[in-house]
Amino acid sequence: MSTQNGLLPFSLPDLGDKEIEAVIHTLKSGWLSIGPKTKQFEEAFRTRIGAEFAIAVNSCTSGLFLSLVAMGVGVGDEVLTTPFTFAATAAVILHTGATPVFVDIDEKSLNINVDELETKITERTKVIIPVHFAGYPCDMDRINSLAKERGLRVLDDAAHAFPASFKGKMIGTLADATAFSFYATKNLTTGEGGMVTTNDPELAQKIRLLSLHGLSRDAWKRYSAGGSWYYEVLFPGYKCHMNDISASLGLVQLNRIDEMMSRRMSIVNLYFEMLRGLDYLILPEEANERYGHAWHLFTIRLRPGRLRISRDEFVDEMNRAGVGCSVHFIPLHMHPFYRDRFGFRPESFPVAERVFRSIVSLPLYSKMSLDDARHVATTVREIGDRYRIR
Ligand SMILES: *Cc1c(COP(=O)(O)O)cnc(C)c1O
Repeated sequence: MSTQNGLLPFSLPDLGDKEIEAVIHTLKSGWLSIGPKTKQFEEAFRTRIGAEFAIAVNSCTSGLFLSLVAMGVGVGDEVLTTPFTFAATAAVILHTGATPVFVDIDEKSLNINVDELETKITERTKVIIPVHFAGYPCDMDRINSLAKERGLRVLDDAAHAFPASFKGKMIGTLADATAFSFYATKNLTTGEGGMVTTNDPELAQKIRLLSLHGLSRDAWKRYSAGGSWYYEVLFPGYKCHMNDISASLGLVQLNRIDEMMSRRMSIVNLYFEMLRGLDYLILPEEANERYGHAWHLFTIRLRPGRLRISRDEFVDEMNRAGVGCSVHFIPLHMHPFYRDRFGFRPESFPVAERVFRSIVSLPLYSKMSLDDARHVATTVREIGDRYRIR
């Protein structure tokens, strides 16, 4: 078993000799910052997704923020999103000066509830940020038609959703802009990094300029053969572009994504096989032709009233048995900042709150062996058996 001090880690990056060689090659090349590898990675990712434009950035958080700025979001505007997400999704809204407006989630998909979304649109609403929780795509047909009808833009947080698809189309081609994460735990990693994809040339150009100080040309164009030292500052931009060390890692990871996804799928299938039919568990929605799942997370729910222990105790038991688990997510409205600033109570978003109290994310990464996965599922069943109310 791939344990560390007897514990199977919740997550590990899947890096091999090819990644290491690629990084060494870049280090020896003398070009570390944004340059040829970043361009190559953008082109390869763009092609893989089937989007018109891809802009490599230093995180998904940056990608979301720059996209909002490029969409003209600022003070007085409202942006709709889910509380069942990571801190970054809502923080970037506040950073633009706009106000995040939360919409509760749908109990089955754990994604934003589109019926409720509609009721929260006001004349101040500018953008919707759907989050594809765990890699399970939101219904982009409904979200896009609502956005079109009400004159809103859609920016999807696809931190979990590479590679995911909706009705056969890749996530990354369905919204006005999409931000992906290549953080260390995500399906594809560059250590730290992200990518924005869009089919809108104007947005693409704005995001690219914003990512690099608002300069008219990047350093590669200034310092490479035939380049010119001249540039113009078009507006005060930010410093959020990717670097060639990360991009060289990303290029190798992108080449390996099918192989890595196939391992993830085997683990997911094993979890379903071994955990299906247990009355104390609610298993995640399965993928189908409409919903192409990226399986970033395998999040089970403890069915209320079926176990004598709480979720917290269940996670402790898993840890004691040598299995690292996690909880995705503590809903944003339950954190001190959002609670105090907006006066939220736990029950302000009752579905997110209820789901939060029952969720456990099991280890799921391509570095795990099937034996590891079998051990995880067996441990879940042993704990379930021990504490089941008979
Ligand atoms: C990881 C994550 C992010 C942030 O990604 P970074 O690349 O670390 O900035 C944003 N949203 C969600 C839902 C995430 O899980």
